[in-house]
Amino acid sequence: MILIPGSYLPAIRVGDTVRYPTTGETPVVTAIHERPDGTALADLLFPSGSTGSGYRLVDLEHLVRPATEPVEQPCLRRHDPNLLCARCAEATEPVTTGCAAVLCSKPATNLVLWWPPSSGQQAKALCPADTEQHLARLRGIPSRVVDLADGTHSLLADGSGTQVANCRQCGHRIYLYPAQLGRKEPWRDGEYDETGRCQVAEDRNAIRMVHEPAVTLAERDYARAAATCGTTYDGHSLADCPARRS
Ligand SMILES: [Zn+2]
Ligand SMILES: [Zn+2]
Ligand SMILES: [Zn+2]
Ligand SMILES: [Zn+2]
Repeated sequence: MILIPGSYLPAIRVGDTVRYPTTGETPVVTAIHERPDGTALADLLFPSGSTGSGYRLVDLEHLVRPATEPVEQPCLRRHDPNLLCARCAEATEPVTTGCAAVLCSKPATNLVLWWPPSSGQQAKALCPADTEQHLARLRGIPSRVVDLADGTHSLLADGSGTQVANCRQCGHRIYLYPAQLGRKEPWRDGEYDETGRCQVAEDRNAIRMVHEPAVTLAERDYARAAATCGTTYDGHSLADCPARRS
């Protein structure tokens, strides 16, 4: 059976208070995402302020519908602004990656690349102070320092200096290869992606769109929930998406 999005009305709508039978909790539904196979998944906001996503709508019991549908909040979901929401509280916090220096807990700001004569290229994400220290230790070894891109949450571990983010449109992993630094529309979903076009966003909006990094925690969390393919913290690129292989 194929369900065309919008062709049926689920009993539960955004804004409704529901019962989650597994735990007996009574969260509100803040967003509904539909999988390509028609399965509807809900984002929930619990009375404690904690949130969750990926709950099957059919597993929830309808309790109460509000008089008016809630409007979008900083967490990019729709709910009563008076409700405590952990995602709203962190909405403007930037996505960062930690400094790679031992015992440093600051966010990294720089990508440092260097080329020791004895081995291949090396790369690290470092805070300003550790960048200075690192460059001082390198002495004559050739190196290059570039600003980490907004939205970068890690580097590939292969020493290539490839920055990793999640696309704000499709929720998938995207890569900024050193060869693309300084270019327009530099994010890619793999080595063989030459244009960076985001097929998911193009299908949704019917215009040309490219992968762009989610730069706040709220943007990243929402994009992952909306991906509906099981993209988790580690995630996968659109090129490796199991839901898009056929
Ligand atoms: Zn919220
Ligand atoms: Zn540091
Ligand atoms: Zn994308
Ligand atoms: Zn996927």
